[in-house]
Amino acid sequence: MSGYKTVIARSVGTKQSSACEKSGLLRRFAPRNDGAGQFRNNSNDGAGQFRDRSNDGAGQFRYNSNDEAGYVHSIDSCGMVDGPGIRYLIFLSGCALRCKYCHNPDTWEIKNGQIMTVDEIISDINKYRSYIRFSGGGVTITGGDPLIQPDFLEALLARCKSEGLHTAVDTSGYGTEHIVRKILAHTDLMLLDIKSINPAIYKHITGVPIGRTLETLRISKEMGVSIWIRYVLVPGLTDKTEDMYLLVKDEKL
Ligand code: SF4
Repeated sequence: MSGYKTVIARSVGTKQSSACEKSGLLRRFAPRNDGAGQFRNNSNDGAGQFRDRSNDGAGQFRYNSNDEAGYVHSIDSCGMVDGPGIRYLIFLSGCALRCKYCHNPDTWEIKNGQIMTVDEIISDINKYRSYIRFSGGGVTITGGDPLIQPDFLEALLARCKSEGLHTAVDTSGYGTEHIVRKILAHTDLMLLDIKSINPAIYKHITGVPIGRTLETLRISKEMGVSIWIRYVLVPGLTDKTEDMYLLVKDEKL
């Protein structure tokens, strides 16, 4: 169907989503590639920069927290593996990393997303509230890396919490301390994607240093936010026993 395409997301989720698809619970869309530029007046706010109000003019199209707008790559109403229960998945566009085996490279550029407001997304979530509630599910915000749109992410999470929805953020953890703290204040569960605990391998895979991710992990523990670690086992790259041992040692987790 023109204007629609499958979310290239979690490979394990694809199979599970099919049951939802059959039951009509699944809705996917790939936002249009038009319109994004109308709110952006420079070409320097791409994947490498956080769209934080304190850093740039992202707030120029914001009127109040419910009208906070951001760039959404796609939505999946029946996620089964990105947190407990059935999840309403919001894929924000934009990512500062460039992982070698990224499963969602089409989310890398913020400008490829469709602008949506918090109100629009909450209105859509309300259509699926019954099975979210009865399955013990909630809302998971992923990407790309949602930390790259911190103001929109914060507004979305805060609204979900005020609506009684369980919130999860799926992220590489690559954000400043200020951003991470304000996001985690509204987050019940963080799905932290650590490509490798070995700094050299992490940099090789992602293109960025591991420091911010480990700092995010530390802050999450300090704030008492539940954490699920996501780790992709790549033969010959991330399957070294000593690295995995380091990952699960108490000092790290
Ligand atoms: S953090 Fe995720 S979305 Fe970003 S490049 Fe890596 S795998 Fe892709």
